[in-house]
Amino acid sequence: MKALKLFGCALFAASFLSFTPLNKKIIVIDAGHGGDDFGAKHSGFSEKEIVLKIAREIKSRNNSDSDYEVVLTRDSDLNSSLSERTDKINELNPAAVISLHVNSSPKPESDRQGTEIYTQSSEESKNLAKIISKNLGECRIEEKNLHILKQSKSPAVLVELGFINSTKDRKYLTSEEGQKEVAAKFEKIFSEL
Ligand SMILES: [Zn+2]
Repeated sequence: MKALKLFGCALFAASFLSFTPLNKKIIVIDAGHGGDDFGAKHSGFSEKEIVLKIAREIKSRNNSDSDYEVVLTRDSDLNSSLSERTDKINELNPAAVISLHVNSSPKPESDRQGTEIYTQSSEESKNLAKIISKNLGECRIEEKNLHILKQSKSPAVLVELGFINSTKDRKYLTSEEGQKEVAAKFEKIFSEL
C-alpha cells in the first residue's frame, strides 16, 4: 500500500504493480509518448500507437515459463510524464529498461532507415544495446543524455525502431506481421540477458 500512495495515481499504479513478480527478473518496456503526445506522425500513423502495439505484443509473448517478467510503463493511450515513468522504474528495480520509440528525419521521405539505439554511460547499458543491435540488425549505438536514461538506476536503453517517414520502415512497423516479428526478436533478446 505504501507504493500505491507514493505513485499518486492508484489505478495506474495498481495495474503497474499487479504484474510485479517476486522471483523473476523484471524487464521494463516503456512505450514512448501517449495521450496528447503523439510523438512522430506520418500518413495517419503515430509513434505513440506503433510503440504501444509493439509493447503489448512483447508483453503478450511473456508467459509463466519465461524466467523474466515484462512490465509495461503504459498499456493504454495515456500520457505519463517522464519523471512518473522513471519513478516507477526505480521502484521496480528492473534488470533492464527498454524505451521504445520511432524516429523521424527532416526530409519528407526519409533518406535514413532502420534502428538506432541510445545508451547510458554504463557498460551494462552498452552491453544491452549490443544484444539488441545484434538481434534487430546492426545499428548505430550512441551514448545520450536523455531523461529516461539519466534517471533510470537500472541499465536502460532507448531504441528508435525505425523511421516513420521511411516508407519501408513505416510499412514494416505498422503491419501486424512486422510488429509480431519485432516482438519475437525482443523475446530472443530477453533470453540473452
Ligand atoms: Zn519518441
